[in-house]
Amino acid sequence: MLGHLRSQGKLGRAELARLTGLSTQAMSNIIAELEGEGLILAGERQTKGRGLPAVQYTVNPQGAVALGIEVRPNAILCALVNFLGDTLYTKRTDLESSEPAVVLPVVKAACDEALSSFGEHVPPVLGAGIVMPGPFGRVGLSGTGKAELVGWDDQDPHALFEEALQMPVRVENDATAAAIAEQTTGSATELQSFCFVYFGTGLGLGVISNGEILHGAFGNAGELGHVVVERGGRLCSCGNRGCLETYTSRMAVSEYLQGRGKSAESQKDLSDLLAANDPDLDAWISEAAGPLAQAIGTLENLFDPEAIILGGAMPPELLEQLIERLDLFEATVSVREDRKLPRVVRGTSGWMTAALGAAALIIHDTYIPSISKVA
Ligand SMILES: [Zn+2]
Repeated sequence: MLGHLRSQGKLGRAELARLTGLSTQAMSNIIAELEGEGLILAGERQTKGRGLPAVQYTVNPQGAVALGIEVRPNAILCALVNFLGDTLYTKRTDLESSEPAVVLPVVKAACDEALSSFGEHVPPVLGAGIVMPGPFGRVGLSGTGKAELVGWDDQDPHALFEEALQMPVRVENDATAAAIAEQTTGSATELQSFCFVYFGTGLGLGVISNGEILHGAFGNAGELGHVVVERGGRLCSCGNRGCLETYTSRMAVSEYLQGRGKSAESQKDLSDLLAANDPDLDAWISEAAGPLAQAIGTLENLFDPEAIILGGAMPPELLEQLIERLDLFEATVSVREDRKLPRVVRGTSGWMTAALGAAALIIHDTYIPSISKVA
């Protein structure tokens, strides 16, 4: 019912009963309960066809809030959204280390601060979505260097965060959360099946297939950065050679430019170099486009997406150039005449993407609980 209200804006009791297949009496009970909880609002009466004008109900944006936290090796990003998923607050806090003993109190303080803006009238908090770079647990990819969170290998992040925050928690990898944010507010709002290639420190992948998140058996699906694109190629921090992220990632571009005496630690550094038409950055983009195009061909054939979206911690104009220079395979299942979008598009949901996506996931679970419970 909430899902229908959110997508339609406002509806009367009879329409809600019809859409949900419930009796009008059952719908009246649900309406009374949700109105009592402050999650929906009764608006004006509106005439539709014959009969008595019906009271129109809407979702109450202030009815509840959700938190989203992205944990990176050197910082946390905290976001707060309302019941419609609108952003109310964002903040970045630096971390001295990514050990759980350091991270947990910082996250708790950040959440308290985000909620303190409400004063004494804090709306019900539905929970906190936590995003962390994968992989989760001890796997063959552990020890993957700079992109890794030190100290979490043998921990249960879900239990630790639930204990620290005293609220329901959902843990996702950063690329999946970013994909959800892109679907909520970015360039994937019309898409049901897409791949989101996420530039964090390494390179992640979120796959949404017919509206459902692809997790894998242990929540580790989507380690795109460690897909080998050149057998025997560059040595990767994971121990293999020729992994995609040694060619195409934030790490790769920073190392490439540092090797040529240039600093590219921040997004601004990269933006400045791009604006100045730096020849080394230009050369890197051309070099990075090759392995990325190969990986995109694989993603297209594996997942049959409506589009592949590039986003995350890269300047938008750099992603545009990268997309422009992709020499995509001429033969994949994504080459079809009835395409609505280009095969590869740039994400538009911004630098807080993963944290907002994590918060959006909590809201999403409330509207469409069956998806998370069944999955
Ligand atoms: Zn690797």
